[in-house]
Amino acid sequence: MFLYNEQILVIDLSTQTSEITELDLTTVENYIGGRVLNSKLLEMYRGEDPVVIGTGPLTGTLAPGAAAGVISAYGPGESIVHLPVTDFLGAEVKYSGFDFIVIKGKAVHPVYLWLHDGVINFNDASEIWGKDTWNTVDWIRKEKGDDLVQVLAIGPAGEKGHPHAQLTVNYWNSQDSYGLGRLFGEKNLKAIALRGLGLIEAEEVEEMVEESIALQQEILTSNVISSVQGINRLVSPSKADAIQKWLAPLIHRHKGCFGCVIACYTFIKYNEDPHVLESTSVREPGFLLTHPQAVEMFYEAGFAVEEAGRLMEICARLGLDPVAAVSFLKENDSHDFLGGKELLHTLVDKPVYLDGFNSKTESAGEQEFYGLTMGICPELLKCLPNKMNARFLQLVSLGTGIEKEKLAAKMSGLNE
Ligand code: SF4
Repeated sequence: MFLYNEQILVIDLSTQTSEITELDLTTVENYIGGRVLNSKLLEMYRGEDPVVIGTGPLTGTLAPGAAAGVISAYGPGESIVHLPVTDFLGAEVKYSGFDFIVIKGKAVHPVYLWLHDGVINFNDASEIWGKDTWNTVDWIRKEKGDDLVQVLAIGPAGEKGHPHAQLTVNYWNSQDSYGLGRLFGEKNLKAIALRGLGLIEAEEVEEMVEESIALQQEILTSNVISSVQGINRLVSPSKADAIQKWLAPLIHRHKGCFGCVIACYTFIKYNEDPHVLESTSVREPGFLLTHPQAVEMFYEAGFAVEEAGRLMEICARLGLDPVAAVSFLKENDSHDFLGGKELLHTLVDKPVYLDGFNSKTESAGEQEFYGLTMGICPELLKCLPNKMNARFLQLVSLGTGIEKEKLAAKMSGLNE
């Protein structure tokens, strides 16, 4: 089958065993992929404490914004929650040789999973259990001798079962406001590391490449994307100018994810001059802002930009949702770095629910639904007119060989 590896990896942490279930064409015709198939897999393994990591048919292809993977799990109240994962992690799931990964059970001792080239290894994580996420990523990449290994990890907050524990993507915050980091902690699962050189094959290769490039050009030249760069694309429009001024002195660069035509993330430097562009001996010059709501909240709470950046770094290192963290700082009337730093370290030991906890049900806006099902970043789709969804479905059709009309009818039915 095309666009997929035909591999659903089912991992049982309790027995440290895994099996492969074939992803066949009928399943793709019925469920397309991404969040829809994740939900189906969750139902199939309900009762075995499943977490599912999935890709869409377009994830990892040349389609604009094909960076999206999605992590799904049962949240509080048994509703299903879906976390988009971008950067290079979603694409690397597919390149590692798997399309969907179901993680069941609980490991007896801390482990991390190493998925590469269609192979899975259960690795002892006793040396990294207790480490923050940054040190975890460094340790795993050093162990594998490859700085391009993509790492989904938890920090001390997840290990301690904090309700606001967040999964981090490499060194940075994800949008996890569901406490999925806690689920990993309960499973004794410290991290999942991914790397592979897998190839994605398409039914109509030339047409798909040409159409992907044409769509990319159209998006770039059609004025549907604003000229605003970085995290300011994603913050509330009414606050964007003020936040831009606030961030400006520390902005070093903006960054996009795999295959994306825009750059939504902003790197701020506070450990050296932000105007220094070349690599220097400063090991950790600053922080990549990936969480617009957290940026807004730190700004509104009156933090200086450098202090906000340093506090968000602590949240990422601890594997703590920065939105919950800033709520906690506000509750405790803390508006500076030193007091905030201390409070955040104490928060990790307090299993309390704060403002910002999310238990979203399955309902999603159309763009989020289409994006997370096809493997296109929903943030990109939200910038585009809904009618462009048909162009992405055309790419799915060219890639898989499934008729476009059939795909369109299926997508509308699945989103009801
Ligand atoms: S729209 Fe932004 S968040 Fe989404 S893939 Fe592109 S750069 Fe990443």
